[in-house]
Amino acid sequence: MDIEGFRTAGYAAIDSICDYYESLRERPVNAQVQPGFLAKSVPDSAPEEGEAWEKIADDYQKIIMPGITHWQHPRFFAFFPCNVTFEGMLADLHTAAISNPGFNWSVSPSVTELEIIMCDWVAKMLGLSTEFTSASASGLGGGIILNSASEVAITVAIAARERALTRIESLEAWEKDQGAREPVSEDSGSAPLTGEQDKAKTLPQGQASQATSQLANWRGKTTSRLVLYGTTQTHSIAAKAALILGISFRALKVFAKDEYALQGETLKAAIEEDRAAGRYPFMLVATLGTTSSCAIDNMTEIAQVAKSYPELWIHVDSAYAGVALTLPEERAKMDIAAINECVDSFSTNLHKWGLVQFDCSPLHVKDRGALSRALTVTPEFLRTRHGDAGTVLDLRNMSLSLGRRFRSLKVWFVLRSYGLQGLRNHLRGSILQAQLFQKLVKEGQTPLKIVAKPRFALVVFRLEPAGVIEKDALNRAFWDALEKRSSELTLTQTVLPEIGFCIRWVSGSLWTRDSDVEASYKVICECADA
Ligand code: PLP
Repeated sequence: MDIEGFRTAGYAAIDSICDYYESLRERPVNAQVQPGFLAKSVPDSAPEEGEAWEKIADDYQKIIMPGITHWQHPRFFAFFPCNVTFEGMLADLHTAAISNPGFNWSVSPSVTELEIIMCDWVAKMLGLSTEFTSASASGLGGGIILNSASEVAITVAIAARERALTRIESLEAWEKDQGAREPVSEDSGSAPLTGEQDKAKTLPQGQASQATSQLANWRGKTTSRLVLYGTTQTHSIAAKAALILGISFRALKVFAKDEYALQGETLKAAIEEDRAAGRYPFMLVATLGTTSSCAIDNMTEIAQVAKSYPELWIHVDSAYAGVALTLPEERAKMDIAAINECVDSFSTNLHKWGLVQFDCSPLHVKDRGALSRALTVTPEFLRTRHGDAGTVLDLRNMSLSLGRRFRSLKVWFVLRSYGLQGLRNHLRGSILQAQLFQKLVKEGQTPLKIVAKPRFALVVFRLEPAGVIEKDALNRAFWDALEKRSSELTLTQTVLPEIGFCIRWVSGSLWTRDSDVEASYKVICECADA
């Protein structure tokens, strides 16, 4: 395709995207295809000769689109939303045009600098303290934008693990009082600041490999004592991060009476128990807005407990609900003061409810050094004059991947075009729609019961007719009926402790109107009656 060909195809693509949005409401919400449908239409190898663009564009509509679930659909009430705005789309178009991996400041200064500035904007927007920004007194605060809450959890767990191992190592060295333990490197008495490679490089050549394997053994043994905490309601990202890093994950119990929020006393008891058993609790993933019921862990109490256990890295996963901190009326409910006091890292997905399309997960930390100490490995070809001088931030040193997408451009476009007021209107609009849905459920004849405290735009309910004992079986049958209507609306099922099988309804699409909320309630009632 040449420049003129792109001009024509590009205009046509924008036209077809506009047509898509104009026809969104008429489309089936969920893809109505069976597994393996695509192999019937797509050849099993790439064509030897290039094909005409018109045919490719046409096939996208004819072959691929039927297998797309429309997350922007006005009656998409499943999972959590995955917003997109036209401003964000335009940013991604420009990003694709310059295809830029942005790993070092020098490979595209704007990519690094805009990301730092946008993270500061987001921190201010959410009410995070300046400690989480590049203006922090320590000079170490700030953020980076990663692809998902999952990547955030792994990245943070690596930094927290490094911090924990460093602390344990210096503690052990101190306890053995200089000399009882063979030093593993020249600087073993003090806290190592960097990873294994830097340690090894301080030794004479011959001793390096022996020291490296000694250190690796010690780290392996010590890592197996580390424990990462979440709750039974924490998203699987925490357990997965622990699994990948070979660390134990402990799901602390939460209860319906506490609205599934982690309480300080549960955390404290777990820490004491693990310590007494020789384990080392090193990180807590607290959640503001759990997936099943939008539970808000008790940050006030967690902050209290954290005072006695400064070694515990506290990460807040607020993938969905974090953007609600943009609303002044929600900040106190989530105890923003406690968050600012005790949290080491905080993350929300702007690509859920925050108007910026997938992928966009800003991670804010008070100490970027903790990330870079764990993640910096610099071969010669990645060194730069500014990087060596420490006058710039090279974002590769704070993330798993070297190349990184230019995600900050879409944040910039969207926040400028909508303004914070526009974002607040969007959030409040979804919350109002959830309130309408609650009203319909509460006032309707169908015996639906809201089973968890509704929060933000999420409502969790189930069918509870009088006299039915097998409520779970009934609700699974109810769910089967709802799934059969997935062209008209989509919902998500879950299981809540002490309640059982239930159904989640969440608004958040920019295209949902009150009439869609009412239509969804009607379908739900029809399935319930059936
Ligand atoms: N955390 C919470 C509370 C979530 O609800 C989700 C997804 O819905 C995630 C994490 C995972 O997000 P991601 O897909 O960005 O890894």
